[in-house]
Formats: sequence, structure tokens, C-alpha cells
Amino acid sequence: MSDTHLSERDAAALEVLNWFAHEDDYADLDTHGACERLGEAIRCETVNSDPATTDWSAFDRLHDLMRSSYPHVMEAATFEVIGHSVLVTIAGSDSSLKPALMMAHQDVVPVVAGTEDDWCEPAFSGAVDEHFVWGRGTMDIKQMVMAELEAAEYVLAHGGSFARTLYLAFGEDEETYNTGAAALARTLEGRGVTLEYVWDEGSSSVADGALYGAPGTPFLSVELSEKGYVDVELAVRSIGGHSSNPFGGTSLGTLSQAIARIVEAPYPLALSPLTAATFKALAPRITEEPFCSLVGAEGELVEGNEAALAEACASRADLFPYVTTTIAPTMIEGGSQQPNVMPQDMRAVVNFRLAAGTTVDDVLARCRAAVEGLPVEVRLLQGNDPSAVGCFTGYGFAQLSAVLGHFFCDPRTGEPLTCAPAISRGATDAHNYERICDTCMRFSPFLVTEAEETRGVHGTDERLPRRSYAQGIRAIIRMIEQTCLA
Ligand SMILES: [Zn+2]
Repeated sequence: MSDTHLSERDAAALEVLNWFAHEDDYADLDTHGACERLGEAIRCETVNSDPATTDWSAFDRLHDLMRSSYPHVMEAATFEVIGHSVLVTIAGSDSSLKPALMMAHQDVVPVVAGTEDDWCEPAFSGAVDEHFVWGRGTMDIKQMVMAELEAAEYVLAHGGSFARTLYLAFGEDEETYNTGAAALARTLEGRGVTLEYVWDEGSSSVADGALYGAPGTPFLSVELSEKGYVDVELAVRSIGGHSSNPFGGTSLGTLSQAIARIVEAPYPLALSPLTAATFKALAPRITEEPFCSLVGAEGELVEGNEAALAEACASRADLFPYVTTTIAPTMIEGGSQQPNVMPQDMRAVVNFRLAAGTTVDDVLARCRAAVEGLPVEVRLLQGNDPSAVGCFTGYGFAQLSAVLGHFFCDPRTGEPLTCAPAISRGATDAHNYERICDTCMRFSPFLVTEAEETRGVHGTDERLPRRSYAQGIRAIIRMIEQTCLA
């Protein structure tokens, strides 16, 4: 960086720009105006942590901003507000093509109370300085909401004629209940729509192949599936009493036994087709054992070595969650406050993250079987099954890989970054569309460094390099051009 005024932290954050290629595409893109409009969107405080107290007028203001900022979109498209979610439909001329859907969510998480003053710029300032757009939502994920509109506006303003219908779908409560995206998906399903692909938020940093035995190989991780989620409560009743006579055991002892039995019956390991595909995509660059000899130079050995690969992944902290259903006891309540008093009623919560093939019902049945014979009640607090394994060999993934490879390259070699299909450990709104789409892709094309992502997403000093925002808009424009235009 030639700018001598950059702090060390800013300079490190801007290192992400080294991955960028073809920033001169769409030379007339109004990147300055786009950043200002993103700042304005940030100032609409669409915090939605509890629908009962949510200020819906902030969502109304965001909708007004959309309506007033994108005249070509408003002219060409239908703009529907469903609940507080938004569905934009740009109709294509060729009804034989399945529509595409690009999405994101309008809601943001609140600023943690007491940390307001830790921000370099107020969290909802939407400040735009020389290098960054600042504020809650610049990484998660208002930048994607606004960039999809910016891209559609650009394409339409340049006379683009849509053959494939494009939907832009913006939920209202991704961070909490997912009802907005569910309603949008139901609306489309009710209209008989099936989709060619869905593009939603996901990873926004460059991954390091070191994890898979390919050190020094950067790649982009496009997530095509989500793990499931279950919270199970274990409860033990007891009237307590003096600890000099613990006849029959204490509630704490029983609860501990129950937790131990559940944890000691781990789920089997399995290599998902997505993790297998990651190994295949990185195969030529994998140099480290044990992966090197299990994968083969062209990935030809992956089939047949699934069990050994799953085992090797399970021994690494970062890969372990991808090859099994995980079991994490997280809460325990009701222990005695005194050493000589037995605890009364106690409860514990165990959190499970479900690999493909495991269902919520399986988890419950397994817990009940594990605690059999103990006076423990097992209750489901909440749960959802893992999503389907998305299609990574079809049209949508190939098109997105081509787009991302065009704009993000290894500066040392000039080669496009490889896109590898992956599993998401978290959840987004995308799974809502699975009933009408077999290719739900999660990737945020607004690259930031891992350090910025870790600090900013749901944290302090959420901000986005202006050039990252512009580059993400370019990627979306190109995806629209490649897949939707006549
Ligand atoms: Zn998000």
C-alpha cells in the first residue's frame, strides 16, 4: 500500500485486495455511489433480535431506500413486501429456463450492550471513509442485499435483456427465526416455481488448503449443505436433603451418568460427498500425509478411501465437525450451593450438530436408549434436520466457480482460485429453498481477511473495504450476465 497513513491493522485488513483480479471490468460502475447507498442502508437500524420489540419502521425505511435508489429495477421488476421480507422478480422471456434466485437478509444482530464505545465509528453510522464502509451489516449481510440490487440495476441500465427470470429475496429474521425466508420460499412454491440455483451468503474469506494437506494453496469454499441442529434437555427430579444419606444417588450423580453415557456413544464417522469433493478439488496440490496417499495426485483414490479419510479428518480439530454428528453438553443447572446439601431438581442441555444422514428423531431415540434405566427425562428443546447435500456437479456451481475464478486469483501465480464445495457448520436462510432447488450455494463475494471476519461479524468494528464491496458487485453482475441474459 502506498498510503503512509494506514494503521497496521488497516493495512492488514486491506491485504485481502491482493486476491482481486479484473477490477477494471465494468469500468463505469458507480462504486462511490454504491458505497454511499450501502452506508445509507446501514443507517436503517434493522436490528431484529426479538420480533416483539423490533422497530419495523427501520425495515420500511430500508424498503424506501431500495425503491428510490434503483429506478431501472423498480421499472422492470415487481417489488413485493411479504411480511417485512422483500421479493423482487425480474421476469425473463424464456419460460423454459428455471429461474435463478439471489438472496441475503435485511436483519442485523444488535451491538453487544456495553461495547458501543469500542467501535472506531458508531455501529450504525454507515460512515464511508477512504478505504472502508463502516457499521453493523457491512459484513453480515446488508452488503449482499444492496449489491444484488446494484448489480441488477447496472445490468438493466445497460439494456440487459433477461431470458431467465431472476428473483432477489431478502428475509427479515435470518439471525433468529427464519420465518421471512420460509415465507418467501412458500410463496414461490405456491406459484409452482422451481429454481436452477440459489446464491446466498456464506464464507467471505480465502481458505487455506493446509487444512486438507495442501499448505500454501488458497481456495474458496462454497457451501452447499448445512449441518442439522438439536438441543436435548435432560432432567432429573429430586427433593434433595442432607448429604449424609445419599441413598439411591443424587440428582447430580444421575445427571452426570446420563451425560457420560450420551457422550461415550459417539456417532460414526462418514466422509460426506462434499468433503470428498473438496479433497478432489485440491488433490493436485495435496502434499502432506496422510491425505496425500489417500487422495492421489488427481483425486482418483478418494473413492475407496472414504473411511480412512474420515478417520484422518476426525483427528484434526478443524475437520472433525465435518465428518460426524457432534455431541456437546453445554448447560447444567440446579447444583447444590453447599457441600453437605444434596441438589434438588437438575437439568442439563446437550447440543448436537447433525451430519447428513442423522435426523432429529435419531438423536432423540439415541439419547433415550443411552439413559435407559436412569430416572432421567429426555426432552427435545429444538431441532432441525441437516439440509440436503446440494448439487456440486451441475450448472449453478460451475457458473459460480467460473465467476469467482475470474475475479479472485492467486497473485503469485495469476491462477484463478479453486472453488471447492463444502459443508456449512452454521445455518443460513438458504435451506428454506431446498424443496424447490437442488443447488443452494453459500458464498459471500465480498472478501475480507479472516481476522476482520472474526472481529466484525456479530462483533465490534464491522466494516468492509470499499474495493471488496465493488468487487462483490462485479461478481454478481457477471453471474447475472452469464446465467440470466438472453
Ligand atoms: Zn448473515
